[in-house]
Amino acid sequence: MERYDPAKIEERWRRVWDEEHTWEVPNPGQPGFDDSAPKYYVLEMLPYPSGDPHVGHLKNYSIGDAIAHYRRRNGFQVVHPMGFDAFGLPAENNAIKTGEPPRVATERSIEAYRKTFDRLGFSFDWARELSSHEPSYYRWTQWIFLKLLERDLAYRNEALVHWCPVDQTVLANEQVIDGHCERCGSLVEARQLEQWFFRITEYADRLLDDLDTIEWPEHVRTMQRNWIGRSHGAEVVFRCEELGIDFPVFTTRPDTLFGATFFVLAPEHHDVERLATGTEHEDAVREYVNEAVRATAEERGAMEREKTGVSLGRTVTNPVNGEEIPMFVADYVLMEYGTGAIMAVPGHDDRDYAFAMTYDLPIRQVIRPQMPGSGETAAGVSEDAMSSTDELPYLGDGDMVNSGRFDGKHNREAYDEIVAWLESEGRGKPAVHYRLRDWLVSRQRYWGCPIPVVYCETDGIVPVPEDQLPVLLPEVDDYAPKGQSPLAAATDWVQTECPKCGGPARRETDTMDTFVDSSWYFLRYLDAHNDEAPWDRAAVDYWMPVDQYIGGVEHAILHLMYARFFTKALADMDYLGVQEPFARLFTQGMITRDGAKMSSSKGNVVSASETVERYGADTARTYVCFMGPPDKGGDWTDESVQGVHRFLTRLWRLKEEVTERMEAVGGDGAGATGKAGQLLRKAHWAIDKVSRDIERDFGFNTAIAAVMELVNETYLLKDDLYGDPAGDEALRFATTTAASLLFPFAPHLGAEVYEALTGHRVWEDPWPKADPALLESDVFTLVVQVNGKRRAGVEAPAGASREELLDLARADSAVRRHIDGKEVVKEVVVPGKLVNLVVK
Ligand SMILES: [Zn+2]
Ligand SMILES: [Zn+2]
Repeated sequence: MERYDPAKIEERWRRVWDEEHTWEVPNPGQPGFDDSAPKYYVLEMLPYPSGDPHVGHLKNYSIGDAIAHYRRRNGFQVVHPMGFDAFGLPAENNAIKTGEPPRVATERSIEAYRKTFDRLGFSFDWARELSSHEPSYYRWTQWIFLKLLERDLAYRNEALVHWCPVDQTVLANEQVIDGHCERCGSLVEARQLEQWFFRITEYADRLLDDLDTIEWPEHVRTMQRNWIGRSHGAEVVFRCEELGIDFPVFTTRPDTLFGATFFVLAPEHHDVERLATGTEHEDAVREYVNEAVRATAEERGAMEREKTGVSLGRTVTNPVNGEEIPMFVADYVLMEYGTGAIMAVPGHDDRDYAFAMTYDLPIRQVIRPQMPGSGETAAGVSEDAMSSTDELPYLGDGDMVNSGRFDGKHNREAYDEIVAWLESEGRGKPAVHYRLRDWLVSRQRYWGCPIPVVYCETDGIVPVPEDQLPVLLPEVDDYAPKGQSPLAAATDWVQTECPKCGGPARRETDTMDTFVDSSWYFLRYLDAHNDEAPWDRAAVDYWMPVDQYIGGVEHAILHLMYARFFTKALADMDYLGVQEPFARLFTQGMITRDGAKMSSSKGNVVSASETVERYGADTARTYVCFMGPPDKGGDWTDESVQGVHRFLTRLWRLKEEVTERMEAVGGDGAGATGKAGQLLRKAHWAIDKVSRDIERDFGFNTAIAAVMELVNETYLLKDDLYGDPAGDEALRFATTTAASLLFPFAPHLGAEVYEALTGHRVWEDPWPKADPALLESDVFTLVVQVNGKRRAGVEAPAGASREELLDLARADSAVRRHIDGKEVVKEVVVPGKLVNLVVK
């Protein structure tokens, strides 16, 4: 008996798939395209190539590959591409440290990834491979930039931006985690700079509403909803009469307007300077503002932070009651939310309340809770207790007080009336605000896609004409950022000719956020070698949307939001026919090791290639799908890897035994009874279970467990089945079925065992179908007679053998009473019906 040698088996099948280009799939109109088959686009988030792939990659791609194989064998035309998100900071930081050009390090990593992916036998269509750092790709990233610019969806503006002092670059809001740089962990600073933005806010409503049209995990949709943060309220205008300046504020609580006792501007508000200049507060204000902008938004917004501020010595008029209320600058008000100014209602807001307590400002209650059940106000019952500021701030609903003609009304009823009244007075209007900000896309870094515009003294910003794309990334000697992009040092490259007037012009030296590169790669796969256009419309119309997208939940906001925005913008320009890129999303859980998160600092990272070298690709792949429900995390232990390896070895040995001990037999054992029937039913049960588990939310772990059960059952029954034609057929069928069902997870072993038993290539055969007749109730009532007289009815497994039925019959106590002490002279067995024992 040959021993299970994964390296040998896996190499053999890899070569077949590679030489025959098995997993390549044509586009519409190309040879071999199947018009009749339904399409399926399965996609895993493309990796950022850095170092070696780890087991997180292994899990991501093993899940996707299982789906791809399953769909192919169910008659779908499947596209399953792979590529690399190659621009980005790690390669650039390495370049700064070692002087090695980012391209060299990146391409070395890509090689390592490709090698590991090849060794794992993933069924990627490599003919569609792309890498975002190649000019043939980023040429079209630049093209999309120009299209967005044409539609006014890309614009340049001065903005207060998050600046990482270590990476020397601007960060998007989303890249600031608790006030720290997502990449290097440094405390982020605020800076005023000219930057490129994409107008994603234009799509806020559609990005929100269309979440209802896609099959995504609810928690991911919730994260996107919160990020967009749509809130309904009113814009109310407060006026500083002294200087004649109007200050619009956005509030979700116009019903509390009568409780506004002061007014606060964010330190960055552009009117702060003007308001303070020439007053006795000027110096204090300037000092405070300088101090405040250094803190991060998250620190400043934190509830527990001590509220600080400084008086402006000015007032604004509250439009509802004409009161003059004092103005402050305070850093708990953030410029990036609302209008950078708020009406402060300390009676009904936590932060305003804390500020009012610190600065001894008036606190006025304008809403009182209703007593439960009575409809009477609590204040009416116990005036003193409820009007005491001890009960404030009060955040709930109730009846309005201290609110002029709205007194006594329920605050929810008064809400619309107040807004309508403000509107009639020209001092306000209903408004919707969003937390979502425009996407800041420029980076002062080298290793990214150059932004295709030039600056001309005469013409200003001039887009590089499409026929001059790509704007190639120039070679430089020094990758270290110095407050501007290292590209600025490439003088010959920077100095150029204006495409419009031919005069001298200067190239944009910023590069694009790498999230731009990954916002459209799923489209390029569909026509990766097109030199004339970013994609062929027919190909994209056929394949899009992605039917199943698979990746980590850490991309729930940024990448997925940006890709959705690009898809909608491109659809609006009629380059695409779909509104959403990813019809279904699956987020896999994180792998821990022995209960701890893997990290290079702890030295407990499991490398994918090491596992493969030790146990083979099939064990590694099957293990990551088996270690737990794939959407949950899983804990990597070497013992469990060995357990999966033993299981695959058992299947291999079964194949060896079955092929050696048995003449080649055909048929599927249909109609077999007894133990052969029992095994057949087990095999059909496994087909049904595995199919349903894969279809249902990625129940890979239970699907693999079902194949293990089938293999165990086969081991238990095999010695009783050899030699009997029906038994041989059942054995062969069960082993073949196990190989066939395991193929999506362990493709090499699956193909090997399947071929040895059938002479077929498993991926060319359809996915097995369970016979419903064999899935039907697997027990029946066995009638037991003694000397022709019914003595018992015993539950027996359908298809139980003659011996099993006799054992069951003899075990029944009623039957025993009639046969004990007597000699059984004859046993009559009618399978599936009855046993008659003749005694004397
Ligand atoms: Zn940083
Ligand atoms: Zn010009």
